[in-house]
Amino acid sequence: MTLKDKYEGIIKRYRGFLPEIDDKYIITINEGNTPLIKARNLSKLINTDIEIYFKYEGLNPTGSFKDRGMTMAVSKAVSEGTKAVICASTGNTSASASAYAARAGIKSFVLIPEGKIATGKLSQALIHGATVIQIKGNFDEALVITKEIAKEYDVTLVNSVNPFRLEGQKTASFEIADELGFAPDYHILPVGNAGNITAYWKGYKEYYDAGKIKSLPKMLGFQAEGAAPIVLNRIIEKPHTVATAIRIGNPASWQKAVAARDESGGLIESVSDEEILKAYFMLASNEGVFCEPASAITLAGLIKLSGRGFFEKGSVCVLTLTGHGLKDPENAIKVSKEPLAAPCDKNSVLKIMGLNK
Ligand SMILES: *Cc1c(COP(=O)(O)O)cnc(C)c1O
Repeated sequence: MTLKDKYEGIIKRYRGFLPEIDDKYIITINEGNTPLIKARNLSKLINTDIEIYFKYEGLNPTGSFKDRGMTMAVSKAVSEGTKAVICASTGNTSASASAYAARAGIKSFVLIPEGKIATGKLSQALIHGATVIQIKGNFDEALVITKEIAKEYDVTLVNSVNPFRLEGQKTASFEIADELGFAPDYHILPVGNAGNITAYWKGYKEYYDAGKIKSLPKMLGFQAEGAAPIVLNRIIEKPHTVATAIRIGNPASWQKAVAARDESGGLIESVSDEEILKAYFMLASNEGVFCEPASAITLAGLIKLSGRGFFEKGSVCVLTLTGHGLKDPENAIKVSKEPLAAPCDKNSVLKIMGLNK
């Protein structure tokens, strides 16, 4: 490989499909190019004859898909001379915004709901040097304040209402189609603020229009039962779910997600926290892939649909695992067995291992 071919993030890779940005303004941490992992054990376990692939977005530089959108949003902001970015966040947007701002040498301000974000995500925003403001409210309330500040002052909003975010995020669809050589039959995503399902659908449609794929997937979105505004068709004032990344009661891209669902012939449904945690454990313990609870909702959704015979035999189904499991280790420890204790001698250890004679 020559240095000329070195991978340098999604903007250079998919330039022809993205808004123009001059090289000198590109802020990248080599996001994207994440693995598409074929499930090895799960189809059998859940007794389905479909092909399951995971788009493992937890392997982006800050551990979530938000980096795809952030490289676009921050590069664009830098090209316009912005000196500061702001976002409201359930965690991952703040981790990503603060990292890209650090790299750009500009300030970042993040508003987070007090006590409701995973430890790993908080640590990221802090170490990347963001000004972290915990508000006594939820994500939706934080977003309202953030939007007002961005309107009145010279700080750029980098939530997914920033159109450049969705432009960057749609590149995950391109990668999947490039790697498979075709579009999957189904694509399953978690739905929080609903930006990502909107972005993926946009990406697939653009690839279809460019003749790169011959069909389009059905988009299947899942919300947690306690935070399911789109499913229930009403704003949820006090959303609750263990999957903090999708604890959102009034999604910014609500109508666009509904359009993605309807245009693709897909659906948006909900599953319980119990189903989410079961899928979360199942994925890590059977496939070796560790994602956060919000990401595991895709598998919970697949299990639910598969149980009612939704999928045709042999269908190809891609699940986006939106964030890395290490962001939220407390939940992993909670759903797993406790470590075993032993005195410090070999025989005691062997006994616990079941290897004592
Ligand atoms: C942001 C996020 C989501 C939700 O994505 P939306 O675009 O808001 O629907 C899901 N999972 C993780 C890990 C996230 O960080």
